[in-house]
Amino acid sequence: FLARLPMGEDLLDTVTQVFRDRRVSKASFSLIGAVSRAVLAYYDPVSREYRDREFQGPLEVVSCIGNVSEKEGEVFVHAHIVLGTQDFGCVGGHLRRGTRIFAAELHGIPVPGPIPVREFDEATGLALWSET
Ligand code: ZN
Repeated sequence: FLARLPMGEDLLDTVTQVFRDRRVSKASFSLIGAVSRAVLAYYDPVSREYRDREFQGPLEVVSCIGNVSEKEGEVFVHAHIVLGTQDFGCVGGHLRRGTRIFAAELHGIPVPGPIPVREFDEATGLALWSET
């Protein structure tokens, strides 16, 4: 499916809501558009913590891709994003809450079959799909 997302809303929350509304718990997606501000994270595997950084827009969404599965019984979106700046540079990382939509076009691709569930993985410190 294709969906246009509303200006001013939180990007991560809105993508999550679109999949919840459609009762889709297993999917991949891509998204392009622009944001007025962004919060990205980098996972430091040594400290096992996400480092967040805020970027002021306007920024172009060069590429945003992700997947949909379940975590703690809820639809869970995992997304990474590359943002283009005015001088044609790029920043990128793990998409965080706090990223504001200027314009966004979502292409959601539901995937049939059993739904992967995220569980804490001791080796990485991340919530990864259980190996089943
Ligand atoms: Zn990530």
